[in-house]
Amino acid sequence: MKTISLLALSLALLLPAVAMAQSTVAATGGTITITPFQHASLELEFGGKVIQVDPAQGDLSKAKPGDVVLITDIHGDHLNPDLIAKVRKSGAPVVMPEAVKQQVGDKVPAPVEVMANGDKKTVAGVAIEAVPMYNLPGPSANYHTKGRGNGYILTLGGKRVYIAGDTACTPEMKALTNIDVAFIPMNLPYTMTPAEAADCAKAFKPKIAIPYHYQGQKPEEFQAALAGTGIEVRLLNWYPAAGR
Ligand SMILES: [Zn+2]
Repeated sequence: MKTISLLALSLALLLPAVAMAQSTVAATGGTITITPFQHASLELEFGGKVIQVDPAQGDLSKAKPGDVVLITDIHGDHLNPDLIAKVRKSGAPVVMPEAVKQQVGDKVPAPVEVMANGDKKTVAGVAIEAVPMYNLPGPSANYHTKGRGNGYILTLGGKRVYIAGDTACTPEMKALTNIDVAFIPMNLPYTMTPAEAADCAKAFKPKIAIPYHYQGQKPEEFQAALAGTGIEVRLLNWYPAAGR
């Protein structure tokens, strides 16, 4: 018995840390619950309100009906009108940039709240700030042009939660302040490498950094690069079909 349990312990120590299915953050008046679905699709819940972000991929059968839905950009890994309809509470507003509205037209019925970079609105009781997300000049410049898509900063129970969207490490991102939780993308050629993403996190110093949108990349490299910085990195299960 002793041999077996020692063997089990040794095996457990050898296995990589298991990426978590859900994560929580303590906030004023309650807990923020984060549920990753796949790639860029996620759910936030706080104070009885459900926020669905980019419902476009993964198994959304367990997604809770959203009081508000946020869409960052026009690409298929962020925007899917059928899945917006699936995760949207009846009459819930969908927040999107103008380019998304132009693309979906009537496929996403009202109420729709168009926000541009820099806009601040309270939608369905949730304070939302739209921030820039774009590629820098160079070979990736045309994937995400400045002004088209939105990253979002939500304030939930006093905590500022930043969903970066598909972005390089822009001057605006580096200049962010007082971010408690940051969802940071890392995949080339569309966003950043894990090393670039880590350098960016060092610039704006979120309390908690959560790699997402990292298909084909190793978020562990991001985590290792931030060791000792005081930034807590949380690895969640963004690609359940691949077991990570
Ligand atoms: Zn994307």
